Amino acid sequence: MANAEATGLIAQHQGNSQWTKAIQGASGSSGVALAPLLLVQPNADLAAIAMTKASNILVEHKRFEEAVSKTRTDFDQMADKLESIIFDNSLDIFEMYKQLLNKDNLGREVAEKIDESWNAESALKLVIDAYVIQFESLEDNYLRERASDIKDLGNRLLFNLQALSLVKEIIPEKFILVAEDVTASMVAEYQHLGLRGIVSLQGSNNSHAAILARALALPAVMGIERIPLGKLDKHLCIIDGYSGELFVDPNEALIREYEHLIAEETALAVKVKEVEQLPSITPDGKEIELLLNAGLSSGFEHSKNSGATGIGLYRTEIPFMSKSYFPSELEQTSLYRQVLEAFPEQLVTMRTLDVGGDKSLPYFPINEDNPFLGWRGIRITLDHPEIFLLQIRAMLRANVNSQNLEIMLPMISSVAEVDEAIRLINQAHFELSSELEFSNNKTLARPRIGIMIEVPSVIFQLADLAKKVDFFSVGSNDLTQYLLAVDRNNARVASIYSSYHPAVLKALHLIAQESKKHAIPLSLCGELASEPAGALLLLAMGYDKLSMNPHNISRIKWVIRHVEFKIAQTILSKALTFSNAKQVHSYLNEQLELLELGGFVRAGM
Ligand code: PEP
Ligand code: MG
Repeated sequence: MANAEATGLIAQHQGNSQWTKAIQGASGSSGVALAPLLLVQPNADLAAIAMTKASNILVEHKRFEEAVSKTRTDFDQMADKLESIIFDNSLDIFEMYKQLLNKDNLGREVAEKIDESWNAESALKLVIDAYVIQFESLEDNYLRERASDIKDLGNRLLFNLQALSLVKEIIPEKFILVAEDVTASMVAEYQHLGLRGIVSLQGSNNSHAAILARALALPAVMGIERIPLGKLDKHLCIIDGYSGELFVDPNEALIREYEHLIAEETALAVKVKEVEQLPSITPDGKEIELLLNAGLSSGFEHSKNSGATGIGLYRTEIPFMSKSYFPSELEQTSLYRQVLEAFPEQLVTMRTLDVGGDKSLPYFPINEDNPFLGWRGIRITLDHPEIFLLQIRAMLRANVNSQNLEIMLPMISSVAEVDEAIRLINQAHFELSSELEFSNNKTLARPRIGIMIEVPSVIFQLADLAKKVDFFSVGSNDLTQYLLAVDRNNARVASIYSSYHPAVLKALHLIAQESKKHAIPLSLCGELASEPAGALLLLAMGYDKLSMNPHNISRIKWVIRHVEFKIAQTILSKALTFSNAKQVHSYLNEQLELLELGGFVRAGM
């Protein structure tokens, strides 16, 4: 139904309708953009192909022939490589594949479908699907199993088709990336190529793709209702990252309205830049440190002048994700050294590997029914001390000269995990101290160690934990997820995920009070820190530091510099009296409007 409606929506528009219907999703990252959509298919998966007609049949024939020839070469190379290690007849499969590719087999059938004016991908899907159905309905077990070979062949052909088209496809000067499931790596791949915004059918505000979009100051709409992706490719669109709306083929009036909002946003960005290098202090003298979240995008050089006083969270998993193997101690050392030395006068808090959940490594697959409640973060690295020790050694080595490293442990849920992690850090420190040679009585620096507070169990063990570590940092993204039992990645429950839920606010307040009682420095590095309302509440609760993406530093600094601490405290007291998140939200928005800060929560000022 939704599909039909969305198709109708486009058709209606092509008929010059006077209105543009919004397609609703969830806000993933604020801001607005106006650009054509660019449809990106993930790794080759025929099941994900949207049926599309060809605009030029000859081009499609040529593309398919090139993909076939590339696939043949792949099979020859694979067979060559395997010949020396496989001695039975398993390699015959490649011969079978090559025969299937012949003009009088599958090749001919695909060509026929292209003649019926399908593009090469769709033609391939039609033929492979038909074969798979035939094979799967056979009685004979062996033959039935061949269905998966056919699928494999189809996906390999598709991979080569897409690889070829990737090279040839002209990426528009500016575009909004749309995909069934936009991943963090897709965003990273396209970020330098004119990317203006993101639309993902799956995922939510807290998916790492959305977090990365915020880090890059790109608007994002996540978890959008079903739409026929194939039909939207290249259509001019507006995305409104504040309201989570997508407008396909907007009319002139809407374009003018949004162009106006984009101009206002640019003006706001220029205005807040004025305070970029000024202290983060309220008019009545309360200071709060603003730090950077880094590591999600490759470049951090541009963050140096963002006006932050250090790095509060360096996510180390992204360099691991972009490789096809675990990076070596030397590779990690050189990467960490670049980061530490880029901020020589400031502290850099590096988080140990936090994979699992929605962050997986291609070479270390984890298949679980409940990945966010499963093998994640410190649980993996403690089960694999060799990975943990190597990473700590690389961090310590990188820190030899700059001496500005702090180590942070993710997903801590018990005191025992902290004990074990500290034991391993001490071991790495001890071993490396004896391996490295120091002159002039110098010794290997021992960094301060902190934990992330993101699993609710630790809130009730802060007194014990305070004796063991040097600082706490709240990961409000996960704390909200675990406190409310709402998968941060699931679009269906995205509307009940809120860091302004009274239970989350009370937990954050309690953490601040406990940390003060035990005299332990406290920061918060989840997305809440970069929201004006969130930052005001955290300031009032007594958080010492807020860590956020570079783009938000001057915005939040502007807010802090324009609101008196005692007013923030009054707002906090009132906010803590509400019984549901919506009330808190509207109260806070109302207060921001009164403080003339409304432009920070919606486009324009
Ligand atoms: C968090 O959970 O708030 C956090 C900062 O970590 P991540 O978003 O990488 O899980
Ligand atoms: Mg987290």
